[in-house]
Amino acid sequence: MISLLLNFCLCGRGIKSLLLAFWLSVLLLPKIHFAQQLKISSPLPKLIVTSPYGKRIHPILGVQKFHSGIDLKSQSDTIKSILDGQVLQAGYNRQLGNFIAIKHGALEIWYAHLSRIYVMAEDMVSAGENIGITGNTGLATGEHLHLAIKINGYFINPLKFLKALQNHN
Ligand SMILES: [Zn+2]
Repeated sequence: MISLLLNFCLCGRGIKSLLLAFWLSVLLLPKIHFAQQLKISSPLPKLIVTSPYGKRIHPILGVQKFHSGIDLKSQSDTIKSILDGQVLQAGYNRQLGNFIAIKHGALEIWYAHLSRIYVMAEDMVSAGENIGITGNTGLATGEHLHLAIKINGYFINPLKFLKALQNHN
């Protein structure tokens, strides 16, 4: 563990990325040695954030609400799983529309407002595997991919997480 932390200190970018790396190494990827390359994939061909994570005025409800994820620009795009994992839920709910939740250790990644779902609960998926098509189902003003990430049940900023993953490799 000490050498692991030292490794990251050498190329680290402050305490936040160190903390993220710590979560990744200890909780998320217990079986993968830190020195190995982590298999990661971008969920969409291009990542263009149209609405950030955090407090915002909800575009439909008109009241201030916490945005638990980021919205990414999309147009009938194929969605790829970001990491290797297992499908926790795949289905429909009124707010998220067609959605997929994939579990990666202590981490969950949620993909929402899909037009099509290619996976079922309990399926094992690989990073880069096609899991669905973007859409505008559920409570959405237009087509986009809502991407949310939870660690141990708490939402985190997906953009910061994706950047930390990229920096790791
Ligand atoms: Zn959203």
